[in-house]
Amino acid sequence: MNNPTSQFARRAAVFLDRDGVLCRSDIRDGKPYAPTRFEDFELLADAEPELRALKLGGFVLVVVTNQPDVGNGIVDRSEVDRMNAEITRQLPVDAIKACYHAQTEGCECRKPKPGMLLDAAHDLGIDLAASFMVGDRWSDIDAGRAAGCRTVFIDRDYAERRPEAPDFITYSMAGAAGLILAQAADANGDMKGPHHAERH
Ligand SMILES: [Mg+2]
Ligand SMILES: [Zn+2]
Repeated sequence: MNNPTSQFARRAAVFLDRDGVLCRSDIRDGKPYAPTRFEDFELLADAEPELRALKLGGFVLVVVTNQPDVGNGIVDRSEVDRMNAEITRQLPVDAIKACYHAQTEGCECRKPKPGMLLDAAHDLGIDLAASFMVGDRWSDIDAGRAAGCRTVFIDRDYAERRPEAPDFITYSMAGAAGLILAQAADANGDMKGPHHAERH
């Protein structure tokens, strides 16, 4: 892999939202809030085993997270960086892309824009059409679709706008990983012939 951006080395990725997917969000009035202090940062129990399974399945794993509390001056960036370092330490992720801009800054990286996914695809030689975006909010799904990925919505029943037409809906990271690995298995099977699933 001397030249990972070569077309011959392009691999499928699973892009993962952070808050509410890999770590616990605080729910107030039905809406999710990112942890603001490292002391409150808690990885969800299924994150580690499910990411290991995806890694074994050959996927590049990239966290893509909006952290507007930094741009809004509510949270110090060093606090978010400590959380992200903990993710790198405990989970088999290949990269973390974070947008620290406020909602009002109009940057190209903040989801629902696909900037972080496109950057990672460039950096890591990722085949976006073979990749998936997993998230718990509409902006994750829109970013994944805009990048040309298939989208997996983890529905946590928040009291907020829902995503339009995600490719898959599930209720946990375990559910998301299972769907993605099943899709990958189908894609590999398709290469052997069009009717493999029906043959006995
Ligand atoms: Mg989230
Ligand atoms: Zn940004």
